[in-house]
Amino acid sequence: MNAARARRLWGATRAFVDPHQVGYVIVYVTNRCNFRCNFCFYGEEIEKGHKPDELTLDEHRRIAEKAGPLLQLSIGGGEPFLRRDLAAIVSAYIQATGVAYVSIPTNGWYTDRIESVVHDLAGGHPDTTFRIILSIEALGEEHDEVRSAPGSFARLRATHDRIGPLRARYQNLVLDQNATFTARTERTLLDTLRGLDQAFEFDNLSVTYARGSVPDPTLKQVSNESYVAINEYLKARTRLREGRRLSPVVRSIYDLTREHLIRTVVNDEFVSPCVAGSKFAVISETGEVRPCEILPHRFGNLRDFDYDLHAVLRAAEARRTREWIVESKCRCSFECALTANVVWNPRHYPALAAATAGNALRTWGRPSRVEQSGEAGVAARPRTPPRS
Ligand code: SF4
Ligand code: SF4
Repeated sequence: MNAARARRLWGATRAFVDPHQVGYVIVYVTNRCNFRCNFCFYGEEIEKGHKPDELTLDEHRRIAEKAGPLLQLSIGGGEPFLRRDLAAIVSAYIQATGVAYVSIPTNGWYTDRIESVVHDLAGGHPDTTFRIILSIEALGEEHDEVRSAPGSFARLRATHDRIGPLRARYQNLVLDQNATFTARTERTLLDTLRGLDQAFEFDNLSVTYARGSVPDPTLKQVSNESYVAINEYLKARTRLREGRRLSPVVRSIYDLTREHLIRTVVNDEFVSPCVAGSKFAVISETGEVRPCEILPHRFGNLRDFDYDLHAVLRAAEARRTREWIVESKCRCSFECALTANVVWNPRHYPALAAATAGNALRTWGRPSRVEQSGEAGVAARPRTPPRS
């Protein structure tokens, strides 16, 4: 093992075990978006348009340099690919924090730009796994209507077809899909997922609850039964091996996260204390640090703390909020925090180990997408056309 790899491994271990080191950070790179989805929890911020005080690339570099080692970096927005310096921002975090896993969600509109960023990142950082997540709510024109964005499904298809084959070149690239579970889509989502399994080549499918304050609050009135049925489908679907490091473990973390979400939302059960504000934090596009995307609490702005995330998390407001989160048994459906709660709570490790063994067995001997697709990648495989 070379010195750089050893340093990264040490950093990942520290991010995992050191209670004073944040391990999972969501970094919003912009509030701008070319869409106006009526289920978007960031709708109010998006309506404000370009913020002149958006963090610059240089400011992101300064934050990254003081953040310490990270395990997971998720990029948020807005539409992240509207930032033309997105690859440079993400690279800055990788170089400074050695982060092992990076997720970038996108509405898939900017195909060329997404491809270019994937080449820069996956090619430039072979020790980091990149997860590009295409937001798909339905198939064909139904998706365009749900997203209020004519032509968006065709763009997604083009992006999928362009990025999918790159997995043959970059073993550290994962291509996933995500849909938002709303009153508008809950009855059709199961068919959508089945259609995606037939007509697309995603490594993983996922469904997240609509959260926060959305432009159309009626969309949050969903039935639990539909979500449970969707969860059963996601659990049972056939999955190929993927290139992501420790993928059986990572998939098990997501499987357990969905189970915890059902226990929390459907059974109204408190599963375990939330690590938001300690192992998990959110940085807004203007440098505000928050424990999560749900609570209104703000710990402070990084600009007032010399870009030092640890200093913000040590401040009195952060300490008070953490205590309140634990004492109040705060619980919600925010999947990212639920994921962090699985990773950083040892009481979940026996279940995690069992799920990992199950996932490893299920994919044992299966070809990876790359092996199955050959050098030509997924574009060469026959597909069922998507339903309109
Ligand atoms: S849900 Fe995504 S694509 Fe839609 S408005 Fe919000 S950030 Fe943009
Ligand atoms: S349970 Fe939800 S609302 Fe409470 S701190 Fe965690 S992520 Fe935030």
